[in-house]
Amino acid sequence: MTSTPGFERNKTQRTVLRVLGVVLLLAGAYLLVTGGMAFADDASSSDVDGGFGPILRLGAGGFLAVFGLGALNAGFLGAQARYAAGETMPVVKDSAAYLSDGEGILGVGRTAGPFCSRCGVRNDGDATFCDSCGTALH
Ligand SMILES: [Zn+2]
Repeated sequence: MTSTPGFERNKTQRTVLRVLGVVLLLAGAYLLVTGGMAFADDASSSDVDGGFGPILRLGAGGFLAVFGLGALNAGFLGAQARYAAGETMPVVKDSAAYLSDGEGILGVGRTAGPFCSRCGVRNDGDATFCDSCGTALH
């Protein structure tokens, strides 16, 4: 295993959420269908359902389906957020470097020059003092 434990745990959590979401959706759909059929059956006959009633089953089915959708959403949203964070940050840095011709915007995306040893901002190649905090660079 080369991945960090934290990453593996998050991945497992998302997988669990997806599986849980599918299971809840299927269970909810099953309850909705059987509840609906029992409800229609009850309307035509006077038989009393031994278990929980059709209305309750319909309600529980709806509940499960909503929870399933929520779990699915959370499972896939985590992956999307991680993807966005990994993909957009280099783009932001590249854009800052491009727009400012290698100078960077507020130190972000600056491609030339020394880093300030005090505040970490990257400065111009010929800078003597830090742009951000004024510390002598050489
Ligand atoms: Zn500085």
